[in-house]
Amino acid sequence: MWKGILFLVLAAVPGVEAAEGWWLREPVRWLQTNFRQTDAAADAKRLVAEAAALRANVLHVGMGGIAAYYPTRVPFHPVSPYLPEGKDLFGEVLAEAHERGIRVVGRFDFSKTRKPAFDSHPEWFFRKVNGEPVVYNGLYSVCINGGWYREHIFRILAEALDRYEVDGLFFNMFGNQSRDYSGIFVGHCHCDSCKTRFRARYGRDLPREPDDEYRRFMAECAREVSERIGRLIRDKRPDAGYFNYIQETTDGIMSESNTAWARPLPLWPYASSDNVNRARNSQPGKASVNLCMQFVDYPWRFATVPGAEIGLRLWQNLAHGGALAFAVNGTLDQQDRQAVDAARPIFAWTAEHEEYYAAQESAARVLLLGGSESESYRGLFRLLSEEHIPFAVSDNMEWLGRRPFDLVIASDRAPTGLRDHVAGGGRVLVAHARKPEFIDTRVQSTLPNAQGYVRVRAGELFPSLKRTTLLMLNGPFTETAPSGTAELTLIPPSMFGPPELIHTDMAETDIPALQWLESGRVAWLPWNLGALYHRMSLPAHAGLFRDLLNRLLPKGRQLVSDAHPLVEMTLMRQGGRMLLHLINLSGHSQTAYFPPLPTTAIRVSLEGEFGSARALRSGRKPAVRRAAGRTEFVLLELRDYELVVLERK
Ligand SMILES: [Zn+2]
Repeated sequence: MWKGILFLVLAAVPGVEAAEGWWLREPVRWLQTNFRQTDAAADAKRLVAEAAALRANVLHVGMGGIAAYYPTRVPFHPVSPYLPEGKDLFGEVLAEAHERGIRVVGRFDFSKTRKPAFDSHPEWFFRKVNGEPVVYNGLYSVCINGGWYREHIFRILAEALDRYEVDGLFFNMFGNQSRDYSGIFVGHCHCDSCKTRFRARYGRDLPREPDDEYRRFMAECAREVSERIGRLIRDKRPDAGYFNYIQETTDGIMSESNTAWARPLPLWPYASSDNVNRARNSQPGKASVNLCMQFVDYPWRFATVPGAEIGLRLWQNLAHGGALAFAVNGTLDQQDRQAVDAARPIFAWTAEHEEYYAAQESAARVLLLGGSESESYRGLFRLLSEEHIPFAVSDNMEWLGRRPFDLVIASDRAPTGLRDHVAGGGRVLVAHARKPEFIDTRVQSTLPNAQGYVRVRAGELFPSLKRTTLLMLNGPFTETAPSGTAELTLIPPSMFGPPELIHTDMAETDIPALQWLESGRVAWLPWNLGALYHRMSLPAHAGLFRDLLNRLLPKGRQLVSDAHPLVEMTLMRQGGRMLLHLINLSGHSQTAYFPPLPTTAIRVSLEGEFGSARALRSGRKPAVRRAAGRTEFVLLELRDYELVVLERK
């Protein structure tokens, strides 16, 4: 739940080249059992047998850090007090798992440790502004810049890597956290190491409140330690993967689909799609491991979210080319067994069809740029999904120009890097009040809160808007010079009460609410279409988006379907074949996830001539019709999920 900040800060920095390891080559069915220290006496044979029965092929279990599950000899590395004398739980799990062909990823949490380390090395620890340590349930938070993270953990890891033939290591809660598990704000660290290091780098004292320089500093500090961990793993175990919530310097990008009691509504039913699509298409050389967290929120680690929600998350992981990844706290002996029950048939089915779940690459030719938390981004994400447009998500521009994209949609910012894409004939849709940075166009001013309307002047160009000439407008709107030929124009705010006076002063303007720039290759809506759709889901906004999309894709859509908007589709390339994934989201309503309503007779037309289509889940082979470089077929039924395999022959 804490991943967001580091993830974004570090995203822009070029990373160490990831290795093409098992995490990219093999179909990954990842089960995380987050040991509690009281689980240290667990029966390894039984645990691994249960993982095998679930059809997991990667077992991610507690190894060390806050509590070690093996008899470590490194000082200040506390062994779980519940580990029986002479027992090596981690070693036993590793041996049992390898015996069954299951890979093992060891989990470490170095963000906190115990009092003996604090008493001996007070300089290793995080200090609040008043100099006090951060103590949570008896555990002391450590600072990324102290001797613990900079030296001591490498002794711990060297011992672990020398002793155990792990397939990977994972690090939880990496770096300095500004909130504890209860969400209490503790601020940033004021320890002597931070003070000295910051002064040496920036020539000034640590700021009282984090500023941009401080955030950059923290990101750099985390990256330095992360890189060293990566190098140590590569030196000691060249075939092992490095997994962390940090996007760079690692082999696999970890993320979570989770819920939280106090998180603002609405729920984001595309959480897994968002995380995996972003990870795979922002850093295509890395694996995406998006953990489906079974629990409701931290205080209720044993209460599980609805089974249908778990199902959606798991199918979405697969549909975007990520690992099937599921996490529980403790062992598989769950007091609430609903989560495992929901995951079990999906793991089993995926294992039976595992050849389709390795080395998938997005075949999408629309790119959505933006940050996952923004309303604008989420509205556009949902519009694209509801229109069944295959799209890739990225938070950087690295891959533009190296892979064909017909259209780029900028949700929050249209950076200068888009200039080359447009110069090469590519199209761009900018749906934000912020002026596109790659075009030299004059703007007059931005209304911060334009509670007015958009007038549809050229109705003939917008077939989806036949029944309205007005679109709701709210939020920032950037004004440019009036134009008599604008297709859409601004209607500024006017009176809305009492009823006798409603909009009696409404005024038309020639101020464009849509601009076509760069010989029609760029469409700029100088207002926030995505955020409006995120909030209100108005069909008029969806209609405008649809019509613009069709004009910006003059060669037609890559995929056309009459499926219900709540059917999510992704198009993935796997070697010479194409995989069309369909996920039925119709069970989602407000805060509930129910089993989806089955849907029937979905027509699909997609680019490329394919000789055969097989719908694996329903076991049907729809007849294909090929014409003019496209392939058409009808999918007779969709229950929760379907995978259609399209082969050239
Ligand atoms: Zn510090």
